[in-house]
Amino acid sequence: MTTFDFDLFVIGAGSGGVRASRMAAQKGVKVAVAEDRYLGGTCVNVGCVPKKLYVYGSHIKEELESAAGYGWNIDGYRFNWPTLRDNKTKEITRLNGIYENLLSNAGVYYISGRAKIIDPHTVSVGSKVYSAERILIATGGWPVIPDITGKEHIITSNEVFDLDVLPKKALVIGGGYIAIEFAGIFNGLGVDTKLIYRGPLFLRGFDNEVREFVRNEVAQKGVSLNFDTNITELKKLADNEFEVTFTNGETDIFNCVLAATGRKANVDNLGIENTQVELNQRGEIIVNDQFQTAEPSIYALGDVTGGMALTPVALAEGMSLVKQLYEDQVNTLDYDNIATAVFSQPNIATVGLSEEQALEKGYGIDVFTSTFKHMKHSLGGSPERTFMKLVVDRSTDRIIGCHMVGSDAGEIIQGIAIAMKAGVTKAQFDQTIGIHPTAAEEFVTMREVTRSVG
Ligand code: NDP
Repeated sequence: MTTFDFDLFVIGAGSGGVRASRMAAQKGVKVAVAEDRYLGGTCVNVGCVPKKLYVYGSHIKEELESAAGYGWNIDGYRFNWPTLRDNKTKEITRLNGIYENLLSNAGVYYISGRAKIIDPHTVSVGSKVYSAERILIATGGWPVIPDITGKEHIITSNEVFDLDVLPKKALVIGGGYIAIEFAGIFNGLGVDTKLIYRGPLFLRGFDNEVREFVRNEVAQKGVSLNFDTNITELKKLADNEFEVTFTNGETDIFNCVLAATGRKANVDNLGIENTQVELNQRGEIIVNDQFQTAEPSIYALGDVTGGMALTPVALAEGMSLVKQLYEDQVNTLDYDNIATAVFSQPNIATVGLSEEQALEKGYGIDVFTSTFKHMKHSLGGSPERTFMKLVVDRSTDRIIGCHMVGSDAGEIIQGIAIAMKAGVTKAQFDQTIGIHPTAAEEFVTMREVTRSVG
């Protein structure tokens, strides 16, 4: 029998890689994990965690602005970027340490360095070579910058969290999660913010009414939104000063240009060519429903496989893989009704189908919508409005889509996602007594059908 250095060699200590490593090691499996950047991957270091901290930080401006209506005199408040940035860094460093402890406490052998696959059972890191019965690729994704003149001056979500100086004026390119979230962060921190998106309306794939509502709210908060617009060229004029030319021929000057134009699978220099692992047209690793690649000893999960690029999905995949490999369980992961939130300002959260997706799938639907001003703003004075929407399958009365734009949308929709997983009906929503006074109670008091379609 062949003996290997490790039972499982994990490449990438992000959300999926760490979870799989820890769980496997806790079952007595001999596990190594190699990471060339930072423990915790994108989510902890340049994604979910610092982003959410910055969303909190930037939203404080609105709280301060509404303080006067509640009787507080807060004249003279100022924002200090280095304080927020450096406190964020301290927190991330703390989390990195926790990840390291989690790995070592579980008995995972942590290797710092870039791993390269040499053959289906061999990985090198620097000058060291390790053999493994199985290899798991969990290397995540990497931001992509459009191929234009001057692209070397454009930053991505990898750099934006650690800017030396907060820009006076920033351009955000893109219309997805990161673009909308960062436009809100910059704007909240007092940066003159312009967002450009190449299509007619950002957040492609989300419910159309949600997209339109968010457009109005984000514009009302002061972000300059420009659709059907792209960048053609960027010229550096001075340090932190860039002249940008747009597709309509206009130019403008910014202190920072952020591309939030999508991410690609992080497979460069991984040694894929030394294996039978196959990539799809977008360069993502193809796996079967056991997370196994075309090379039987090599597995992959998380963003590198091009599924839903969400931390909880990678975590669930990591746990599922370990149960399959070391507990002989079948993969029961269900990708339906995965709730997601965009931490835009206001937040968006959604679970299930958009109205358009429901109609495309042939459902006859009753749509319930509600738009209102959050009670908090009655004295606070903010013009922000909240939007809620339920998409109901008319034939079964089941809720098949639930959408919200408004404060704490993610917190509220998480609970509804559980109910939807359990097959909740509109009648059960109606039987539920609300919690008063909350915004969330509106979800159980939507009595009148807004429209019936399909
Ligand atoms: P997305 O895929 O969400 O959005 C990319 C955006 O860039 C789209 O609007 C796309 O336009 C646009 N785009 C792509 N190529 C170009 C180009 N060449 N020129 C101009 N625009 C372009 O990617 P993100 O980078 O925002 O985020 C990546 C993923 O990470 C998300 O999809 C999400 O899964 C995850 N994420 C999740 C978060 C959360 O849970 N809150 C937060 C941040 C990220 P088009 O629509 O026309 O294709």
